[in-house]
Amino acid sequence: MKALVIIGDGMSDYPLKALDGKTPLEAARTPNLDYLAKNGICGWTKNIPAGMNPGSDVAAMSIFGYNPQKYFSGRGPLEAASLGVKLKKDEVAFRCNLVSVKDGKMKDFTAGHISTKEAKKIIEKLNRTLGTKGIKFYAGLSYRHLLVMKAKSFGKIKTTPPHDITGKTIHGFLPQGRGAENLIRLMNKSEVLLHDNKTRATMIWPWGEGPAPRMPSFKQRFGKKAAVITAVHLLKGLGKTLGMEVIDVPGATGYLDTNYKGKAEYALKALKKNDIVFIHVEAPDEAGHEGNIKHKIKAIEDFDKYVVGTILKEIINSKLEIRVLVLPDHPTPIKLMTHTAEAVPFAIYQSQGRQGIQGGQGEQGIQGFNEREIKKAKLKIKNGYKLLGKFIGGKI
Ligand SMILES: [Zn+2]
Repeated sequence: MKALVIIGDGMSDYPLKALDGKTPLEAARTPNLDYLAKNGICGWTKNIPAGMNPGSDVAAMSIFGYNPQKYFSGRGPLEAASLGVKLKKDEVAFRCNLVSVKDGKMKDFTAGHISTKEAKKIIEKLNRTLGTKGIKFYAGLSYRHLLVMKAKSFGKIKTTPPHDITGKTIHGFLPQGRGAENLIRLMNKSEVLLHDNKTRATMIWPWGEGPAPRMPSFKQRFGKKAAVITAVHLLKGLGKTLGMEVIDVPGATGYLDTNYKGKAEYALKALKKNDIVFIHVEAPDEAGHEGNIKHKIKAIEDFDKYVVGTILKEIINSKLEIRVLVLPDHPTPIKLMTHTAEAVPFAIYQSQGRQGIQGGQGEQGIQGFNEREIKKAKLKIKNGYKLLGKFIGGKI
């Protein structure tokens, strides 16, 4: 058996007045997704466990078949993996933003989307001046970097993501807890060091800390060889952590202009060498964050036509047994312009029809891939991480 998991980031949504009470998935023209839903098995799955932050990293962990409550150890370690930085047992990784703070307030958590080239110079300078045996900076892209520290420099600390405090006075949001003063001292020193530099970066902002996650590789856990295609570095990091092949597709931008068709073609090619390929498309989520209905519908329609359509065309005529799971990771409702932790609709389809997968509720009578139609399905996966095992095993 070969399998494809196609993730439309943030696709699901609420009914919108502007769409006559339809959701974007319902309003969009999606013949390929609809085909999968009509001819497959549909249900609902919840990828964000109660009490956890509804991030794409947590959701992807569930989709990949790992319980985030057991394995998620922070964003920092995934960033480290995506940069190819191997954490030692006694090290903790922080995502380290370059930010603009003005008059004590968080003015811009991206430091004006600082260029990678300028940022790299700053990170080098930080390393030269503030780096020690126990403190290392690694340059990433634009404002997104990495700080690795020896874990013994602090106990349990609490940090705040800088994008959550835009416009607010930073004072109340500095790191807290045992050993936080080490980190605050480092932040203060960075502020002095960056004083008068030519960019809009005024200091570092470390957050999302954690040790290397201890997870069995995908091969160990499922006995299958897996690959992942995504433009999002966090998900690349997760893929690397799990020992998956991480495939770069030229022109994959993570936005509306992404190379949709290329992703599907690379995925089909990767399926020759792998048992299972995960394809992640970020664009619907971005449109959700913008609160732009038109963009979201366009992203969903492009996802349907170029990603799902390209794959469906190939597998419908295939003599091989190829199974497809399609789903969002979490909703990114237009109304809220951010992620929610709610369950999402999914569809499972197998080439040559339904034989080979058991489950569902018999004839579900579902006509399309959208929230209203899939409500008819009684199938609900409470712990989203359990879906992948069922999908691979063919018993839903
Ligand atoms: Zn997401």
